[in-house]
Amino acid sequence: MTVGVLRKKHVELLRQHRVADGLGPARGRLDGPDRYHTWSQVAAESVPSRLHRLTSLRLRPDAYTGAELHASQQVLDGQSEELFGLAETAGWAVRTPFFAGVFPTGSMNALCRPMPGTGVLVLVDSGLLHLVPDVLKIMIVSRSSFGESPLLEPAFAASTLAEVFNAHLFGNGAAAARPLPELAGQRQDLLRLMARRATQFVVAHEMAHVHAGHLLGSWRQTDPHTPVGALDMQAVGWPREYEADRMAARIMLASLAVLSPWDRDIVEPYLVGAVLLVLALHEVVSVLAKAAGRVLPFAGSHPPALLRIQSMVEHLAEHLRTPESIAVAAELATWLDERVPGVLEWFRLVDVQA
Ligand SMILES: [Zn+2]
Repeated sequence: MTVGVLRKKHVELLRQHRVADGLGPARGRLDGPDRYHTWSQVAAESVPSRLHRLTSLRLRPDAYTGAELHASQQVLDGQSEELFGLAETAGWAVRTPFFAGVFPTGSMNALCRPMPGTGVLVLVDSGLLHLVPDVLKIMIVSRSSFGESPLLEPAFAASTLAEVFNAHLFGNGAAAARPLPELAGQRQDLLRLMARRATQFVVAHEMAHVHAGHLLGSWRQTDPHTPVGALDMQAVGWPREYEADRMAARIMLASLAVLSPWDRDIVEPYLVGAVLLVLALHEVVSVLAKAAGRVLPFAGSHPPALLRIQSMVEHLAEHLRTPESIAVAAELATWLDERVPGVLEWFRLVDVQA
């Protein structure tokens, strides 16, 4: 019942900020003709046509569409029940009515909005819900996996990532990159698992704030630089942010509890990879934003990403079954880091073009 009220408040907030009239499956450009069907199409695209798309996205971000938000909300809804269960397994069940809704906040961290007498509404950035699966997909296809060679020539990873980050930084949480081909088989399973865990980690961090009572001593912070103009969040201070990261990681590790020891050893590195990828993306997005002259909303509300990663790695080291899990996760983060100069070069080309 109360979660239903939070759902209504979420739609009200979207309307107030002129984002969408509702969250119904409205018309939109999902599954439109403008998408890649094969990875060879991604690689074969000419530099001018890709540059043209990057440049035009910067000039005219699409209007917010109910269809995109509807799909993203379904992603959040589809994983929330499991997340509540994981928090319970970790011993930190959230009793306060709690609802995660998609919203163009422009922040990689979800924002907590306590609704007095009702519960807590958590706003998850619409851009993040595109960014995480897209980056993971590019990472999976441009590396050898499951004994198969890459589907995308590794040299094209940077240009493909450039489009995804360009959409994230300049699309106002409304425009996504040109949809990439679908994956199949084990690659698709890996993408689904990591994208789900990464997104759940973002929401679990807010659950941790609620469970630990962090919001009681919080203060309102307003940032004018979000995709919808001024927006509020509850700030809690860095020590509590570190604590929420650690609790969120433990909530995610609870997903291993139901697995056999054998499966657990296989899955753990990817779970750790998904959690650390979120923090690594914070760092990459802030580096790219700085280079592109974009201001990231609520940037100072959380500790710098590198400090969060360091604190997280130290914490995880005490709670993992296989110490090598950290090494696998670090390797994924390094892969991403090494693509950043290539992405920056694409951004420079867009600037020259504009
Ligand atoms: Zn937080």
